[in-house]
Amino acid sequence: MAPLCAHVIIAKNCAACGCAKLAKVSKSERLNIPMPRVKRAFDLVITPGGIRRRVIECRTAIYRCEHCGQIMAPAEQYHRLAKHFHGLMSWAMYQHVAHRLSGGTIEEMLREFFGLTVGNEEIHMLKSLMARYYSKTYRHLIQKILLGPVLHIDETQVKLRTGKGYVWVFTSMEEVVFMYRPTREGGFLQEMLKDFRGVLVSDFFFAYDSIDCPQQKCLIHLIRDMNQEILNNPFDEDLQSVTQPFASLLRTIVTTVDTHGLKRKHLERHSGEVDEFFNVLSALSFRSEPAQALQDRLMKNRNKLFAFIHHNGVPWNNNNAENAIKRFAYYREDTVGIMREKGLNDYLVLLSIYQTCRYKGISFLKFLLSRERDIDRFCAGNRSPRRRSAIELYPKGFIPPHLVTLRKPKISQPPNDSSTIGDDR
Ligand SMILES: [Zn+2]
Repeated sequence: MAPLCAHVIIAKNCAACGCAKLAKVSKSERLNIPMPRVKRAFDLVITPGGIRRRVIECRTAIYRCEHCGQIMAPAEQYHRLAKHFHGLMSWAMYQHVAHRLSGGTIEEMLREFFGLTVGNEEIHMLKSLMARYYSKTYRHLIQKILLGPVLHIDETQVKLRTGKGYVWVFTSMEEVVFMYRPTREGGFLQEMLKDFRGVLVSDFFFAYDSIDCPQQKCLIHLIRDMNQEILNNPFDEDLQSVTQPFASLLRTIVTTVDTHGLKRKHLERHSGEVDEFFNVLSALSFRSEPAQALQDRLMKNRNKLFAFIHHNGVPWNNNNAENAIKRFAYYREDTVGIMREKGLNDYLVLLSIYQTCRYKGISFLKFLLSRERDIDRFCAGNRSPRRRSAIELYPKGFIPPHLVTLRKPKISQPPNDSSTIGDDR
C-alpha cells in the first residue's frame, strides 16, 4: 500500500520517573529491548480536485531515561493512536447522514474507491467517535435554541430493537436539535424549558399545554382537522358557521404576513378582529356535535391560536420542526427495529448538525472537514487557525472495539452498537 507518510511517535518524559532527559536508543543497542512498534492510520484528503487516500505509518521511538535508566517507548500515544483520522470519518459520516448510505454501502465504497478495509463495526465506531467529538456542538445548539425568541417542537415515534421510543425535535429558525426519549411523556420539557423566554410553536399534543410560556399552535394542523370535519359532515351548517369566519380571519392576517412579513407592528392591527371572532364564537350555541367540539377546542386554545400577531418573527405554523423531523423519518424507514438507543443517540447528534447546516445554508461536509465545533464561528469564517497535529488520538479512555478483547481495560467505553448504521440494503 503506497504512498506512505511516516511519522515517529515521540516521548517528552520518562514514563517511570517523569524525567525529561531522554536519549534515543540506537538500532545497534536494541538487541534485548522491545522493537519500535508500528501502526498504520488511514485518512482521506478531500480537495476540490479530488479525494485521495493517505496512509500514515506511525512508529514509536525507543528511549533510555538518563535519570533512572528505564528503557521505554511512548506507550500512551501509541495505544491511543486513532486508526481512522478526521477526514475519513467526516467523509463516512457525510455519506451516512447526508445521503443515508448504510454501513455496508460505505464499507464497499471505501474498499472500491480507496482500497481501504473498514468493517461495518468500525463504521459504527466512527459514528460514535464523531458524535463524541461534536457533543460540544450539540450542547451549544440546545443552549442557543433555548435562548432564542421562538422554539418549534415536534415528536415522532421510533421503533428500536428494544421496543419503541420517541424522537423529539427542537428548532429555532436556524438551529435544530433531535433528542431521543424512551417515552412520549412531556415531563422533561418542563425542566428543559424552565428558562425559555420565547414563544413555543407546536401542534396540539397535550404535553405542550402545561409549559409556562407564550404559545402558538400550528394553524395548518388546525385547518387540516377542520377540513376533515367538513368532509365528514358536509351538510353541517353549524360547523360551517365556525369554520368560515375562522378561515376568513386567518386569510386576512396571512395577507398581512405576505405583504409585511411576521412583524408585530403590522400584525397587531388584527387583534381587534381576533377578539371579535372569539367574542362572537363564545356566545354561539350549537346542536351539532362537531360544531360544539370545534367551538370548545378554539375557546380552549384562544390564547394560543393568534399569539404570533403579538410577536416578531413567530410563524403561525410548525413547518420548521415538521420539515426537520421528516429527515429523521427517512432514516427511520431504513432502520425499523434494528437500532439501539446508543447508536440512535450518536446518529441524532450528527443529524442535528446536518439539519442545522441545511437551515443555515452551509455545507455539512465542509463543516465536518474544518474540525470546527462552533457552527456560528464556521459561518462567520473567523476560525482560529489551529495547528493540526500529524497524528490523531482516540479520546482518553476510549478503546476501539477491535482491541477491547486484547486489552481488557478496567474502564472501557466501546461503542457496543453494531446495528444502527443499518444492514446492508
Ligand atoms: Zn526515568
